[in-house]
Amino acid sequence: MTSIKDQLLLRLSAREGEMLSFLCRLIQIPTPNPPGDTTAAMALVAQFLSQRGIPYEIVAPNRGMPNLIAEFNGGGDGPRLVLNGHLDVFPPGDLSKWSHGPWDAVQADDCIYGRGACDMKSGTTALLFAFAELYAIRQHLGGSLVLTVVSDEETFGPWGARYLVKNRKEVLGDCLLSGEPTSPYAIRFGEKGRLWIKISVRTPGAHGAYVHMSQNPIRIAAHLIARLQSLEQIRSPADTPVTITLQKNAATIDKAYGLGASNIISSTTLNVGAIKGGVKINMVPSDCEFEIDIRTPLDVPHEDVMERLRDMIVAFPEAAFEVLDQDAANTSPSDHPMVQALIRNAKQISAIEPKPIIALGGCDARLWRYAGIPAFVYGPSPTGMGTTDELVRIDEFLHVAKTHTLAAFDYLMSRRVDRIQQVGADEGGMHR
Ligand SMILES: [Zn+2]
Repeated sequence: MTSIKDQLLLRLSAREGEMLSFLCRLIQIPTPNPPGDTTAAMALVAQFLSQRGIPYEIVAPNRGMPNLIAEFNGGGDGPRLVLNGHLDVFPPGDLSKWSHGPWDAVQADDCIYGRGACDMKSGTTALLFAFAELYAIRQHLGGSLVLTVVSDEETFGPWGARYLVKNRKEVLGDCLLSGEPTSPYAIRFGEKGRLWIKISVRTPGAHGAYVHMSQNPIRIAAHLIARLQSLEQIRSPADTPVTITLQKNAATIDKAYGLGASNIISSTTLNVGAIKGGVKINMVPSDCEFEIDIRTPLDVPHEDVMERLRDMIVAFPEAAFEVLDQDAANTSPSDHPMVQALIRNAKQISAIEPKPIIALGGCDARLWRYAGIPAFVYGPSPTGMGTTDELVRIDEFLHVAKTHTLAAFDYLMSRRVDRIQQVGADEGGMHR
């Protein structure tokens, strides 16, 4: 006799074509952020749930940026698992650089091409199907399952998961699973921090031939930028369990994020993302502004970085800085039952053994970690993410969808058994 879990996997395999066509339809609805309008894409998700008789609620604090919450209670006691995916995507950039149109969802070379293919319409589709399949067998499950499909993720905006976590506490649960891109070989249990700073340099300015009358703020900015590079020397302490885990999994980090990623995972990085200054060639400018994107590793408080930064800027009296935005680095336990469930099922489905690592960039999972909820990310490879020719390999997408479903099943079921055993043990203690 086949088990409920075996039947679940069989049903998912039978729905592969349906999953692929849903993903293609979702990619074909443009949702670039900015402006971040996801109304039509959300209608497709809502229609999917309605067709299966699954109730949901739309929460739209900002017009054009709807969020969806769906949930069900299983047949018994158990934990509350939350699945989270976003619908907005990066803008496509220069269309002429794409081999296939970013909104065409062309299938070629065993891949689906398009903006959002990996970040993260495939992950969101995987979680949506996981939710629907588990809903269909809910009477066999312990605990409860929540699905959150959100907007406003790509700009770290306030109207998506940030709004839900703040205003709808029922989406917190006991554990979060996200399908943001990681690669099938990696499970993310944390992410680096983010510190965005704007630096402005001001001088009187002058005629371009009268350089003795004013310092040049662009030159000052250039010197300052060269000095700021030394912030990259700030690293995580070498002897923490997380640093050791990351060192052990260096090959996976390089595989997931590209060669060299394991070198920067435990160090601060600095990117000068934008600079502007000057009006025309024959004027000494009076201002130059640039923005720096600093990413901080685990166990490096932002205050330490700021102290070094202030010390450097003091030497440039024409310069002033302003913190634009920041998020602290964050982690969850890398040996959590959800991590074990993902590893076990990935192995069973595709003979892949993913390793726990942290992310270079940030995603909505951090919001749950800040609220004290363990949060994990497992998705396809980030090929073309944030640039042209974004794609998802079809086998990776299907692998992720199946792994999400079975890991969620195991998490809900195993914890249910744990709790029964726990109650039994407590009772035994009382008798002694
Ligand atoms: Zn994303």
